[in-house]
Amino acid sequence: MRLRPGLDLLWRAPGEVQIGTDPRWAVRLSGLTDVEVDVLTEAEPGTTVESLRASATRHGLAAERFAALLRALDEAHVLCPIPSRPAATGSATLLSGAAGDACAWSAVLEDGDGAAHVRARAARSVGIVGLGRLGLQVAVVLAAAGIGTVLLQDDGLVTSADLGVGGYRPRDVGSPRTEAAHRIVHDANAVVRTHAPARTEPDLLVLIEHGAADPARSRLSMANGIAHLSVVVQEASVLVGPLVVPGATPCLRCVDLWRADADERWGVVVAQLAAVSRPRGPEESSLAAVAGSLAAAQALAHLDGRVPTVRGAGLEVSLPEAVPRVRTWSVHPDCGCGAIPVTSPEVTRQETASCGGARGLA
Ligand SMILES: [Zn+2]
Repeated sequence: MRLRPGLDLLWRAPGEVQIGTDPRWAVRLSGLTDVEVDVLTEAEPGTTVESLRASATRHGLAAERFAALLRALDEAHVLCPIPSRPAATGSATLLSGAAGDACAWSAVLEDGDGAAHVRARAARSVGIVGLGRLGLQVAVVLAAAGIGTVLLQDDGLVTSADLGVGGYRPRDVGSPRTEAAHRIVHDANAVVRTHAPARTEPDLLVLIEHGAADPARSRLSMANGIAHLSVVVQEASVLVGPLVVPGATPCLRCVDLWRADADERWGVVVAQLAAVSRPRGPEESSLAAVAGSLAAAQALAHLDGRVPTVRGAGLEVSLPEAVPRVRTWSVHPDCGCGAIPVTSPEVTRQETASCGGARGLA
């Protein structure tokens, strides 16, 4: 066993030590002798019990007191197993830039093995469609977090409006976005793959669109059974979500049908917003950074095998403060996307409220 990595060991008062600062797991050990306080506060996070025992012996701490201290640490949940080391080959090695990820996940995970958690990401693949500032931010965060395959798709060129967030440089202006993004993503993770073997689908597609989600694009993902995360850049806000697991969660058509229930002309409006010919506006700096990172965090939750907030929901990030607001959707009874339909009057109310401005104009 070892002390859980990532947790600080802090002196609080005579005879009292605090381990960790996050209210989810921080504990206070009191009634300690001065020697016990020294043994704990001199230990590094992640120290093995054997090293701790050697330190206790050096300090002259009696064996039975050390055993009692260990029991207290165990009951406080700050001990975790020492992970078995993987063979140092290929994808088994931890990406050097992901050390912070491994450390933080060691604090969160029951088994304390954040390194194994991050290494497992090397087998995951994600496709990113739309490489403006926001899309590039998503790609860079996913690559830096250890995702093994990050596929990049965009048929546009880097413009001066793309600079400043994500990583495009002035010398990239005028070159294809995919070309510059490949270089930047490889800078974030030297071993990331940016090409998939033929006939393999990514574990997740992140679709970054402007104005409205393109129904044709989401239909294709649904038909191929690919999980997809919708990110829509709007006038002064970004909607991150929903993340759609075909047949299991509300889809983008469900969301559109709820909107159409609240606004009978929504179909006409969305057709114009999602039109391929419509010029894509530039992306505001703080929204691109915040929404891009939120989208990456939600994608990581899905790729790590957890249930992200945006399954059946969206995180709306708006100017001026970019504080995310959660909006939820259920499966629409008329959609037929395979998920279990649940009529939700509450959702309809939200949609009415959000369309209030547009209806006022009519
Ligand atoms: Zn649906």
